[in-house]
Amino acid sequence: MGWLGLDDTDSLKEGCTTYSFHLLLESLPSSVTVLSPRLVRLWPFAQQRTRGNAAVAVELLVEDESELLHYLEGFWNDHLLSAKGKMSPSEHDDREQYPADPGMVWFSSEQPNEEFYTMAVQSEVHLNQVPTANRSWGGQGRIGATAAVAWRQKQCTWEAIAWREPIRHGLLERTVCEQTLSRVDSMPSTFLSRDPRKGTGLVAPRGPCPVLFGVRARDSTSALEAGNKLLAAESTESTIGMRVFTTNQATDDHLSHSQKATVTHVEILSRGNCVITTESDTWLAFAESGSLKILAQWLHPGDVIEGYGLSPEFGVVHLEKLRVLSAYPDQQRPMCDECSVRMKSMGKNQGCRCPKCKQRTEDTWDAIARIPPFESWVQPPVDARRHLARPLEWEDSTDSSSFMGNQ
Ligand SMILES: [Zn+2]
Repeated sequence: MGWLGLDDTDSLKEGCTTYSFHLLLESLPSSVTVLSPRLVRLWPFAQQRTRGNAAVAVELLVEDESELLHYLEGFWNDHLLSAKGKMSPSEHDDREQYPADPGMVWFSSEQPNEEFYTMAVQSEVHLNQVPTANRSWGGQGRIGATAAVAWRQKQCTWEAIAWREPIRHGLLERTVCEQTLSRVDSMPSTFLSRDPRKGTGLVAPRGPCPVLFGVRARDSTSALEAGNKLLAAESTESTIGMRVFTTNQATDDHLSHSQKATVTHVEILSRGNCVITTESDTWLAFAESGSLKILAQWLHPGDVIEGYGLSPEFGVVHLEKLRVLSAYPDQQRPMCDECSVRMKSMGKNQGCRCPKCKQRTEDTWDAIARIPPFESWVQPPVDARRHLARPLEWEDSTDSSSFMGNQ
């Protein structure tokens, strides 16, 4: 037995790593047994990442390793090498484009260290850090391919991916039965099939790639059942096949630990992006992050907050989860006992005076509790969330204790 990994075979009009992988697995010599394939999402800020930054791998039971390696060599030269140098479409127009640089790795018997997976999902990794495979092909794609092999599936979800007929590759429109999709969405184990706010499907990718749909579930049986339902629906377009992948999606594997901090300054930028300065870092809540942005904008200096996020650069955290641990109260001058009018300060250390009856008191403040708009964790809505992000509504996702009140 051994492990095969593949990454970065995406290109502009054709190709998608899962599709190349499916074709490869379909065509393996009959003496090879294919076990459950896996798809891993990696460090979202990787400089040379592909669309969605996903890599794939599979465990193979092999009778004749040299026969397999000979076959892989041929498949690489005939079908995968040609992706090199092609440009991948970007989800973000402002990002520098890198040509595809596919990579394939073969590990006989042993998976590489799990630490390599953790490194590749939580930070930028360079080619010279990649554990040595028993056989490898290509370039940059070896990073993701090796990380996909190194993953130990401590937490996982499943995704059934189906691919379109080659004649329809490159077309932007896809036909997946809407009625069946809402039935699939109501299955207890499926998730992120539809956007609850917009009422639109989330299973079909945008863009020209070969994928018709990917339907996600918290167990493999439901992923397969949901995928089969979509395939069987009359109005779903025909496909060349479907496979259920074990994935690291919705696991939070990209987040290490939470940070706690005290707010020193809050600035709301013109589009609604919110910059929270704390005593140690700058935390960013983006305009499209829904409840998270609303909570961020509500913050005042002195509030104690806890957050999870990624640091694409030192000292900056892009927030993915946020909660308020304690809120610094607002202050105002006390009311006059006689007139029920708010007293005014007479100046530093001069005490307060009622503007009506002129009665004086010491220099005091009344504290007014501030209650946050959300008393527990918040995260961006589904359409603004990473594939890796674990939904908060999954009960075991984070410590669920809530707002502890004012200081
Ligand atoms: Zn008074």
